[in-house]
Amino acid sequence: MKKQLSAILCLSLLILTACGMVSEEKSTTSTAPRSDASPQALEVQYSDSGFASAPVQADADMYAMDTVMHFRVYGADQKETKQAIEKAVAEITRLDQLMSTNDPNSELAQLNREGRGHFGKDNVYLLQRAKEINELTGGHFNIAVYPLVTLWGFTTDKQQVPSQAEIAERLPLTDPQDVQFKPENGEVAFAQKGMGLDLGGIAKGYASQRLMSIFAEEGVAGGLVSLGGNAQLYRQKPDGSDFIIGVQDPQNAEGYIGVIEAHDCAVITSGIYQRFFEEKGQRYHHIIDPATGAPADNTLASVTVVCQDGTTADALATALMIMGYDDAIAFWQAHADLFDMLLIDKENQVTVTQGLAERYTPQEGTTAEVVHRVP
Ligand code: AMP
Ligand code: MG
Repeated sequence: MKKQLSAILCLSLLILTACGMVSEEKSTTSTAPRSDASPQALEVQYSDSGFASAPVQADADMYAMDTVMHFRVYGADQKETKQAIEKAVAEITRLDQLMSTNDPNSELAQLNREGRGHFGKDNVYLLQRAKEINELTGGHFNIAVYPLVTLWGFTTDKQQVPSQAEIAERLPLTDPQDVQFKPENGEVAFAQKGMGLDLGGIAKGYASQRLMSIFAEEGVAGGLVSLGGNAQLYRQKPDGSDFIIGVQDPQNAEGYIGVIEAHDCAVITSGIYQRFFEEKGQRYHHIIDPATGAPADNTLASVTVVCQDGTTADALATALMIMGYDDAIAFWQAHADLFDMLLIDKENQVTVTQGLAERYTPQEGTTAEVVHRVP
């Protein structure tokens, strides 16, 4: 039992270590363009998994999409696991090149620069999902917030608090209805000059979802990916047990507030600690309320969404952060079939929805309130 627990803690710490590095780095405004970064050599570490049915565990890290990523797969031998990890890395690199706002050659950067462009099938899919989730969340999830994201400086290393007049000038440029889009041929155009799209709130969830398809194609026994604060689990551990995912403590980048046991799903967190700057003693984070043009200002510190689909989980976590505690609970009551969630407020009080209650274990000394579905 003791051995099992230490293995569990190791895994959650491993994932948290990746998250911790991200938040530490981001809080020191290291969000400058990465397009000049030299390609990283891929190092895969192999170890004995301890599972007879899939004896090899392969682990690798990479930096992409402005974050530290970790991949783990279990398989029959080094060849199989290496191939799965190499394909995962290639896929992340491909998606980053399509979706980055910093890489001037990406489909997205070209659209933002020229006001019109042409999207391939990945970005077409994301635009469609973003539109659906914009409607589902009453406009809280809105990829057209890009002019506000740049105004606050979150795409650069020069972050600043803009004036109300500057915000008022940009707000009319963020109407998703002004994104003219033909899914049949991928043509996208903005109705107004100065508009732009930002896939930062959904791209990593899509990326982790894509990696699940790659792991399935490669036939590995099980695996997990952690893209910054976003984890997605492929099947379960080879002995049939669940993966254990640490939920980061918003007040301590090195610690976690509890763990979630899960398999075959995405566990994706949006938090005000993931990217922020401080000015005159005030903290400003990167999740923009499209209604005000400013960082969402409510009692929540983080939202973790658990559901099957990574793309949906990522977009919902961002939207729920903006909704705030009460509206997030009401939204879950209306859509409880779609997802479960864990909310942490600024006082570090944890709330989990019914479906997660059994799967969440609070760290010693902390508790979690459970919200049940109202029939
Ligand atoms: P996440 O960490 O998934 O919550 O995504 C946050 C990122 O999404 C920000 O850094 C922005 O790039 C982008 N973003 C900010 N506000 C919104 C919003 N209201 N809707 C969609 N994306 C947003
Ligand atoms: Mg998100």
